[in-house]
Amino acid sequence: MSAATSPSRIVDAVVVGAGFAGLYMLYRLRELGMTTRVFEAGDGVGGTWYWNRYPGARCDVESMQYSYSFSPELQQEWEWTERYPQQEEILRYINHVADRFDLRRDIQLETRVTAATWDEGQQRWNVTTDRGDQLSARYLISAAGCLSAGRVPEIEGLESFQGQWYHTGNWPHQPVDFSGQRVGIIGTGSSGIQAIPQIAKQARQVTVFQRTPNFSIPAWNRPLSPEQQKEWKARYPQLREQARNTRSGILYDYSQRGTFEVDEPERQREYERRWERGGANYTHAFNDIFFDRAANDQAAEFVRSKIRSIVKDPAVAAKLAPTDHAIGTKRICVDTDYYTTFNLPHVSLVDLKASPIEAIVPGGIRTADATHEFDSIVFATGYDAVTGSLDRIAIRGRDGLALKQKWADGPRTYLGIMTAGFPNLFFITGPGSPSVLTNVVVAIEQHVDWIARCLQSMQQRHIEVAEARTDAEDQWVDHVNEVADKTLFPTTASWYTGANVPGKRRVFLPYVGGLGNYTAICEQVVADGYRGMRLDPVPAVEGAAPRTGGNVSAPIDAT
Ligand SMILES: Cc1cc2nc3c(=O)[nH]c(=O)nc-3n(C[C@H](O)[C@H](O)[C@H](O)COP(=O)(O)OP(=O)(O)OC[C@H]3O[C@@H](n4cnc5c(N)ncnc54)[C@H](O)[C@@H]3O)c2cc1C
Repeated sequence: MSAATSPSRIVDAVVVGAGFAGLYMLYRLRELGMTTRVFEAGDGVGGTWYWNRYPGARCDVESMQYSYSFSPELQQEWEWTERYPQQEEILRYINHVADRFDLRRDIQLETRVTAATWDEGQQRWNVTTDRGDQLSARYLISAAGCLSAGRVPEIEGLESFQGQWYHTGNWPHQPVDFSGQRVGIIGTGSSGIQAIPQIAKQARQVTVFQRTPNFSIPAWNRPLSPEQQKEWKARYPQLREQARNTRSGILYDYSQRGTFEVDEPERQREYERRWERGGANYTHAFNDIFFDRAANDQAAEFVRSKIRSIVKDPAVAAKLAPTDHAIGTKRICVDTDYYTTFNLPHVSLVDLKASPIEAIVPGGIRTADATHEFDSIVFATGYDAVTGSLDRIAIRGRDGLALKQKWADGPRTYLGIMTAGFPNLFFITGPGSPSVLTNVVVAIEQHVDWIARCLQSMQQRHIEVAEARTDAEDQWVDHVNEVADKTLFPTTASWYTGANVPGKRRVFLPYVGGLGNYTAICEQVVADGYRGMRLDPVPAVEGAAPRTGGNVSAPIDAT
């Protein structure tokens, strides 16, 4: 794709990002007849699955569920090979989607959107990129991703390190060969838990630096048989519909029973049954795990006992067994051989609470009580989640207000989709929506469909400016907090609250009320004529840019 494009090109919509969200948004905007430019910082489509090529990278949601449902043909055609899909397979799938729906011609790769400013006179967004593009767009849609702003912690001396260092979220495109190396891995969240066993298979010596242990449930990954796929595909429409109405967009076995409604032996049997099935389904063993600390403790203690039974060295097992947070209130991990890896003679664990990292030195990592020599360091240190990718774009709305400034005390949105003072700016899986607490592809489809429907309705009614009202936004923020406060989530410092980023305001970022409930609220907003939003016809401004698309005669829905 050529870097130089004509200045001030006029389009209906600019979409930021070409992962699952950006691709589907483009597809729907095309259906509406809108001219669209998608900008993607990477040199390929795929988002998360383009960037995260670390060994062991795999989705925690099963293949048959972690995929688009918008095209019945696509979901029938595509063949998944494993219960949980590997990064490489998901990336292949996303590329297939881009080709199958001829999406690439509207996507500009290797181009980062750097700024977007609302032009009050034109009632449009002026968008600029790091390659000199300047566009005027009626709509600005962020598909920039909840987990795409990688975070390497500020540790003194990193630039002096003489070996190689990597971040799991920006992994080289060629496989890294750790054979014979001494490798330090910092971070034991989802990415670290997936990467550590794989790196340990190659490396001569692996040292894991752990700040907080996380709960992990075995994946028991396995090949997906043609029969299993056939069964799913035969019932896909019905299963997808069921999934959309669940809390998390995933067909887990959601128990209707409370932890203490059954006796101790039955409780243990249920935990065991779930452990043997594998995956995050474990946290739905009883219906009060996310709400009642005593109930949560029971589920957590079962996992701790598993860790103690797997890890042979009791001191290491004690360090790996989380006691500082309620299970499920940090992203639950799903692993292959994580705990057994610590039984290998060449794998060791450093507890950073007892011995914090002081500096990175030319030869490795210096902690409070030792210097560890490494050939490579891997940062599995996660993301500035949910708001990080938006913070990195200079977005200015009405009266020049910067989004970052508006959100200095935490993000404020209406439905996680819009924010007052920033007309025609839409977020896909924005803060205040279920996003990272769900099967994100299901959440993305729900958001994209909602936004597309809103734009279509605006076209039909000759409305060109939509904006969240401040009172509706205030009520939504209160509701998001109120729902979170009924759960155990806010009791835990996690990336859900921004606690992993020094200086980031602690706010519970996703909506915890469940995807099914959330979708019902969004539908009611539509049924009430886009309650909470101001929808204004464009005033006749002299010299205003013309509309460049839009199917105004399409049948009206819902409003
Ligand atoms: C390691 C890892 C494991 C995960 N596992 C799961 C899982 O098991 N289940 C699940 O449901 N979800 C999982 N997720 C979440 C995952 O991010 C979503 O499922 C989904 O891929 C998000 O798609 P997206 O299009 O919204 O965002 P992304 O895939 O993050 O794509 C956003 C894109 O926007 C681009 N971008 C950002 N800012 C700009 C800019 N200013 N200009 C141009 N381009 C920009 C980025 O380069 C990126 O390619 C995981 C995430 C990670 C990181």
